[in-house]
Amino acid sequence: MTNNAVRLVFLFLVILLSARLCYSNVDGLPTKFAAPDTISQIDSHFIAVGRQETIKLGRHLAYFEDNLNRLQLEDIRSLPAGAWKQSEAAIPNFGYTDSSYWFYIRLKSHDIPLTKLLTIQYALLDHIELYVLENGQIRSDYLTGDTFVFDQRPLRHRDFIFPLDFEADQTLELFLKVKTEGSLQVPIDLWERDQFIWQDQDEMLIKAIYYGMMFVLMLYNLFLFLSIRERSYLYYGGLVVSMLVLMSGAHGFLFQYLYPQSPAIHKVVMLLAVPCVMLFAGLFSCYFLSLAKVAPRLNLFVNTLNVMFLLSILGAFFLPYDISTRISVFLAIPSSMVIMFAGPYAWSCGQVSARYFTYAWAFLLTGIVVSASSKFGILPRNNFTEYALNWGSAIEAILLSFALADRFNRERQAKFIAQQAQLEEARQRKTAEQKLYNQATHQSLDGLPNTVLLQQILYRMLYLQEQKPPQFSLIYLQFNGLAEITKTLGHENADIVLSLFSKRLLSLNDGFERAVLIESGQQSDHYFAHVEKGLFVHILQDVEINYAVDYAHELMQELAQPIEYNAMKLDTGLAIGIAASPLHGEDIDIIMRHARIAIDSADNTNGNVGVYSADINPYTERRLVLMGELKKAIDLDDLALHYQPIICGQSAEVVGAEALLRWHHPTLGFVPPDEFIGIAEQTGIMRDLTHWVLNRALQDHAARRQHFGSSTVSVNISAVNLHEPDFEQVVLSLLEKHDIPPEELILEITETSVMKDPEYAISALKRLARQAIKLAIDDFGTGYSSLAYIQRLPLYEIKIDRSFIQAMDNVKNDQVIVKTTLNMSRDLGVRVVAEGIESQTILNGLRKLECDFLQGFFIARPMSMESLIAWQHAEKNDEFFTEQKSS
Ligand code: C2E
Ligand code: CA
Ligand code: CA
Repeated sequence: MTNNAVRLVFLFLVILLSARLCYSNVDGLPTKFAAPDTISQIDSHFIAVGRQETIKLGRHLAYFEDNLNRLQLEDIRSLPAGAWKQSEAAIPNFGYTDSSYWFYIRLKSHDIPLTKLLTIQYALLDHIELYVLENGQIRSDYLTGDTFVFDQRPLRHRDFIFPLDFEADQTLELFLKVKTEGSLQVPIDLWERDQFIWQDQDEMLIKAIYYGMMFVLMLYNLFLFLSIRERSYLYYGGLVVSMLVLMSGAHGFLFQYLYPQSPAIHKVVMLLAVPCVMLFAGLFSCYFLSLAKVAPRLNLFVNTLNVMFLLSILGAFFLPYDISTRISVFLAIPSSMVIMFAGPYAWSCGQVSARYFTYAWAFLLTGIVVSASSKFGILPRNNFTEYALNWGSAIEAILLSFALADRFNRERQAKFIAQQAQLEEARQRKTAEQKLYNQATHQSLDGLPNTVLLQQILYRMLYLQEQKPPQFSLIYLQFNGLAEITKTLGHENADIVLSLFSKRLLSLNDGFERAVLIESGQQSDHYFAHVEKGLFVHILQDVEINYAVDYAHELMQELAQPIEYNAMKLDTGLAIGIAASPLHGEDIDIIMRHARIAIDSADNTNGNVGVYSADINPYTERRLVLMGELKKAIDLDDLALHYQPIICGQSAEVVGAEALLRWHHPTLGFVPPDEFIGIAEQTGIMRDLTHWVLNRALQDHAARRQHFGSSTVSVNISAVNLHEPDFEQVVLSLLEKHDIPPEELILEITETSVMKDPEYAISALKRLARQAIKLAIDDFGTGYSSLAYIQRLPLYEIKIDRSFIQAMDNVKNDQVIVKTTLNMSRDLGVRVVAEGIESQTILNGLRKLECDFLQGFFIARPMSMESLIAWQHAEKNDEFFTEQKSS
């Protein structure tokens, strides 16, 4: 029974202790015999054998080393007794040796016959010869070992068991020869037969439990690997399999049950087992502890050893047995040390799952140490120390299994949290987009649809309906009393009154059979759009103008009563203007403008309802004048460009300037660009105007370049320009004329105009981008473009509309909108310009959000090129950042 531990311990001992170490420990001092007689003739090495006892023969043996490996029984018998040495170890152990060892003992029975078993419980011995002599005559001899087929054994048992029957008062002489390529250990005992059978059954039971457990662990983890494809389970499964093979091979089970006819296979299996255990342990540790991340050097070291184990696995097939085992043992020592060390190290680096790993290897280590200690007599031999290695490796395997489950769980949790975060981000983005959409399409004051939605509806009615031309009337309601209320009660009160009026509109629910639904809102349906403060629009479909007029009078009756607010009755001063399609125009802009003009013709005599007619339109005259004058101004070079600098949000460096048209007419005075750009677009002179602007802007840019080197100049273009077939050529030739590299020009086009015909715009803009010209989307946020289109545009820059920037002062939501735009742009790799910065607070806010570029009156108003150059020389640009720098 005690010798079982030796067999188990051996293979793990080689992991920690070199064979030489074992050897020097076990080899006792030999006792010399002076007499020239043979060993059979002297009195020592004689044991009287009783009935019940189990005798450990180790310390009673004489032994002789035949280092040439040539002697036969006859030679050994005739050796002088002095050539033999006395064994002093309970288990004779000679480590790795090329010699054969001969052992001698004499056994004498008492006065009764005995049935005994001689056992050598170390299944890995290669070659064993046993001679039993009586009165100098050979009574029986046996040849066995694990290099012989299993059937050759005297008894079918995984260890080497020899029957030894005594008659009463009989003396038997035993000569035993052992030769093996592994470590030469001979745990030799004499058993009473029944006792041996009992202890063997106990041992089988414990081992069966151990194997069964390891087998289940192996199957379970390999199954896990197959189902979730997580590599650590494969490595772990491999580790358990190879430990199982190592242990059951060392115990002799594999040979007995799997390949009893093939000692050659047995040899190879035993050679493969140790490097396989070490290889899988190494792979598992690297992967499980993420050593590559936690400790790259350690990882490199373990992986180098892994490669060497792999080589020694291959080497097992062609290297000599002893060299091959020695290599494995030599490599196993540093490898197991490093793995033991890696667990606590990874744990100390904050890897929580390394905890189980550390415990697991600690148990295995304890198992090895306890086994080894009991083998060397430091600890007593008992059931605990006997199977310490089994327990150690079993607990290790179970703990590693826990470790895997623990890690899996942690990773799943982390993944879950990451997923939640992603979902949350997507949700926030969606809400922000929805807000952006709502903001762009509704009046902030009362949530009514604004111009954008109104125009969408009108667009659909005018261009997408089968009936042509469509018949409808636009009814404009103007809350004229608002100006008065603002003057007397202030803005805030005026806003409240206005929203009370909006509520009144919402409460109208009858007689809308002909009214067009502008939006079916969440709380209520909207039949009125709120296009400017105090200006509401209502649409009637398929009605004659007379019907519309009557309807307008009715509306007037219902809406015109004064509004009660703070015990005051406030006059609405309501006026209505009507324009009809196709009677007063067939284009959205025209009809809308005409309905607006009609409001001015409303007076008390007609119940404050005015209908459009050409002779009441005062604007046409000015338009006609402007049209002619603008054309002249272009030809006579009467226009001017002003430049507004754009600075970097991080460094305050001037990165470029936007060119803005200025027209100072000798008699009409300053004409705002918004007004004449529209006229230019509608009257076909946009082409000339843009060419003039481009030419002048590039010329001025060339001048500025001489002072400050390269930067960009931004020029606003109109959607009309994109329809010019040679636009791209014109731009290129102007760039060439002024010797400006194309990447210094940014063309800005408004989001609204892109979205009028997105597909066309995309292809036209792509052509320009191919020439390295940079493109920017202007007034972003006002046109509610779908992300899908924005993604397809070859953009350099997005300019957030100034309404969102200015609102950052007070409304939290707009921060969200600006933030979302910044995030989206970063994803697309597009720069963001914030326009219309009018205060330090807003500037600071944008810098905190890491907005790329900044523009606005607070930094500088648009100015002439000379002033810009002077401004830039004065280096005023980073004054605005000083406040933040000092804080
Ligand atoms: P835009 O392209 O959005 O140009 C910026 C406008 O915002 C300019 O108005 C500028 O003076 C103004 N601005 C800049 N910073 C601030 C600020 O901090 N606060 C406020 N409230 N406003 C600021 P501007 O010069 O009146 O131009 C109006 C629009 O006319 C431009 O809007 C652009 O769409 C159009 N425009 C101007 N020049 C040209 C041109 O050469 N070609 C074309 N196609 N359009 C032009
Ligand atoms: Ca612009
Ligand atoms: Ca703009």
